[in-house]
Amino acid sequence: MALTVAPPLYLIGMKINCWQCDSRMPVVAILAPNVIDYEEDDDEEKTVFALSGIVEIPQDILAFIQKRVPTFQLRASHTAGYRYFANTCPQCHKIYGDFYLHCEPGGPFFPTSEQEAKLLYITEIPMTSEIEIKASPSSGLGELILAHGKRI
Ligand SMILES: [Zn+2]
Repeated sequence: MALTVAPPLYLIGMKINCWQCDSRMPVVAILAPNVIDYEEDDDEEKTVFALSGIVEIPQDILAFIQKRVPTFQLRASHTAGYRYFANTCPQCHKIYGDFYLHCEPGGPFFPTSEQEAKLLYITEIPMTSEIEIKASPSSGLGELILAHGKRI
């Protein structure tokens, strides 16, 4: 889905153990508090979306992310059935699929408490104007992460 996103944009992440080889690996995701023209319901409050299954992203944003986490790479996912920017293991190069990172309660991007949200770091991705990102937006946990993640 093509999303128009206005600043700010946040990179969130933490380190976990690879499901395949148990090596420590970084995982990241993007939080977008200003997705334009995308309303889940008519909340007065702005929804903070977490983006997963990122298919296309502007080059400068990608460069910012890959400078910090080079293992965030465009890869074919058999689970998802398409290519997206996935978190990959620096040791065994397997994908840690977005489904497991975003959709399993207690997973890195599915904190079930303030304590779990605090395990994530948050850093602002520099951008000055609206951009387009092709990804799946999910709502519900972005506010918790934005409120309690560790700002760096
Ligand atoms: Zn591994």
